[in-house]
Amino acid sequence: MFGNKKFDDRKPYENNNNFSEEKGETISECPICKAPIKSIYTAIRHKDSDQLVHFDCAIRELVREYKHKLGKNLRIYYVGAGDFAIVREIYDKKGFLKTYEIIERIEYEKKDK
Ligand SMILES: [Zn+2]
Repeated sequence: MFGNKKFDDRKPYENNNNFSEEKGETISECPICKAPIKSIYTAIRHKDSDQLVHFDCAIRELVREYKHKLGKNLRIYYVGAGDFAIVREIYDKKGFLKTYEIIERIEYEKKDK
């Protein structure tokens, strides 16, 4: 009798659990790596196509594009508001990254929307 009730109570809990696990819906497909984009927070609008691409993919493309400007301690960072930048990493005496200095800002995401 109350064994049955217990069983019924469990069911919705298990369903909820499954639901949250599969909740990572695909928003769109990244045109660069062809893998699904599951969160808007891992994606940015591509500077040319205006399609959503992964951050990592956007950075990889920029690194290729700006290769001649990069080098020792010079990297591409996301600096916010849809922009990337070439930055110089500044390390302290122990070799820990202390801060960075923006060398060149790269406007990436189109802002005319
Ligand atoms: Zn990608």
